[in-house]
Parts: sequence; structure tokens; C-alpha cells
Amino acid sequence: MTLLAQLHLDIETRVQSIRGEHPDWPCGKGCDRCCHRLAEVPQLTAEEWHLLQEGLTALPQERLAEVRRDLAALAGPRSRPLLCPLLDQSTGACPVYAQRPVACRTYGFYVQRDKGLYCQEIESRVADGFLADVVWGNHEAIDHRLAGMGETRSLIEWFKRWVPDEYAVPTAVGKAPEPSKISPEP
Ligand code: SF4
Repeated sequence: MTLLAQLHLDIETRVQSIRGEHPDWPCGKGCDRCCHRLAEVPQLTAEEWHLLQEGLTALPQERLAEVRRDLAALAGPRSRPLLCPLLDQSTGACPVYAQRPVACRTYGFYVQRDKGLYCQEIESRVADGFLADVVWGNHEAIDHRLAGMGETRSLIEWFKRWVPDEYAVPTAVGKAPEPSKISPEP
């Protein structure tokens, strides 16, 4: 098992534990609030990117072209919070859910000591005293394990390396890249 696969498994164990104790947990199908409120363009390790690529190459070409266009728009000046360029806004679903980054898997189930909780829905339940028994995951430990997998790059950088020529025309919605055009890793 790869380090990333083991990390996914450990996160999923924590997620299922919390879900098991709280079947009405707000994170789940039908909630895409966090995908609308990104602080930054998603950052991924190389292994995360390779997994995400599998999901991206399975998308319809038109959809992938839209993702590329929305991602290119994020490369310029933008106000925060950001809308994830991968989110399918018509359904509120993540089209690469099985391949999503670690940050998306931990959101709502892990906390950092100095930053607390981010989801307002969860924060309000904590404030009301409904989640006092939750054993939260430690996000600092997750970050430490990710750091051990090498440097991270923004999703924009990974796309540029994948299809540099097409990315040079950011607003064009053209033919989606063929897997054969994937650039070798540096
Ligand atoms: S990658 Fe998927 S789960 Fe993560 S923020 Fe984007 S749409 Fe949401």
C-alpha cells in the first residue's frame, strides 16, 4: 500500500468513526459548502495529483475543458473565498470524488490546534454543545505525513505541466488533453 493510500485509509477510519456516532453529521452528499469556500487553490503532492489525473481523464472532454477554463481564471487576481474549479455546480457534486485531494477528505472531521473549525455548520453545533463527545482528527499530523510525501504544487501548476500549450490560451474551451500528452515528472 502506498503512503497516500494508507493516509486515505486512516482518514476514512476517522470519518467513519465520527459518522457512526453522529449519523446526521453535516458533511456528506448534498453539502458542497466547503467546495464554495476554498481559502486557496487546492495544493497537491505529486501522488495526489497522479490520482486526481485518473479522475480528470475520465471526465467528458467538454467538462474537462470547463475545469481548465475555470482554473485558468483563478490564476489571475481573484477574491476569496474561492469556488473550487472542479465542482459541478449543476449537481453540487465533486466529479472526482474518489480521487479528491487529502484536504477535501479531512475537511469537517479534522482540526488544527491554532485554527479550530472552519465549517460554520459544525462550529455552530459545537457552540450549542452537540458535539462535545467527538474525537476530532489532528490535522497537524496529516500535514506532517503529507510533507513526507514531497513538495506540493497548486492545481494550477499541475495543470500547466500537464497541458502547457492548451493552458496558454486560458479562455479557450477546446479539445480536452489526451492522456498521451501528460508531461513526464521533473
Ligand atoms: S476537489 Fe471536489 S471535494 Fe474538493 S473542493 Fe473541489 S469539488 Fe469539493
